[in-house]
Amino acid sequence: MSSVPVAVVTGSNKGIGFAIVRALCKQFPGDVYLTARDPSRGQEAVAKLKEEGLRALFHQLDIDDLQSIRALRDFLKEKYGGLNVLVNNAGIAFKVQDTTPFPVQAEVTLKTNFFGTRNVCTELLPLMKPYGRVVNVSSMVSSSALRGCSQELQQKFRSDTITEDELVQLMNKFVEDTKKSVHEKEGWPNTAYGVSKIGVTVLSRIQARMINETRKGDHILLNACCPGWVRTDMAGPQATKSPDEGAETPVYLALLPSDADGPHGQFLSNKTVKPW
Ligand code: NAP
Repeated sequence: MSSVPVAVVTGSNKGIGFAIVRALCKQFPGDVYLTARDPSRGQEAVAKLKEEGLRALFHQLDIDDLQSIRALRDFLKEKYGGLNVLVNNAGIAFKVQDTTPFPVQAEVTLKTNFFGTRNVCTELLPLMKPYGRVVNVSSMVSSSALRGCSQELQQKFRSDTITEDELVQLMNKFVEDTKKSVHEKEGWPNTAYGVSKIGVTVLSRIQARMINETRKGDHILLNACCPGWVRTDMAGPQATKSPDEGAETPVYLALLPSDADGPHGQFLSNKTVKPW
């Protein structure tokens, strides 16, 4: 078994994830895994970094596929005996002009952004080594979507006692409410992406609390963040930040030094803790 530290970035064949891998290759003292659902896109991305003189390793990972997540889990367990850095970056967003019916957009978006991210966490968080760092890439849109929720929902999402099961029930309820065309009446904002990212931010707060309760002495730090508005296939060419700039906050959180006791369980943008 290798004692080399290991970092994994989900959805990193392009966009912000790719830039996070690039930065980690330069700054993380260990093996960095670029992962992609499509192995050829992943290998191409690794080759691109190689041309820049950087060494990333590749492992397949489709966060929508539990078997794929478990294969990565088993590989990490066997080769490294755990994991030091996990960046949950993979995500999707329908374009504004997309005509896919809203209930389908809701189901598909939550499937990857919330349920896929949660499944990765369920399988990989138990592998986190002491001083591990976990970064869940959410969005400022989670904050604006939260403000668009009913007072009752806002209270639930801001609660310091909400459980993961309760969050999952709420995320499922959103999808069901869109199918019945009652989501607005039920207090939801009209954004599937926004609700999926509320899920990611609240999940991070819950996971940080669980770490405090079950692994207090292990110094693991877990946070959610927004990368900013970044020029990628998702956000388009008008966005204000380059992918390397978008990677800055996630990389800062991934590389928090071993003597740091925070941030933990926070939502950050521009390396700054934001109120939730
Ligand atoms: P992007 O360029 O579209 O890249 C998304 C990445 O996620 C791609 O590598 C994609 O792989 C991967 N992915 C999607 N579904 C996946 C799955 N099921 N399993 C594994 N990988 C999957 O988007 P981006 O702008 O870099 O976004 C990265 C993250 O930042 C997302 O979570 C996004 O919500 C968040 N974010 C972005 C912005 C922004 O302005 N760009 C702002 C706030 C938050 P494929 O190539 O195979 O599709």
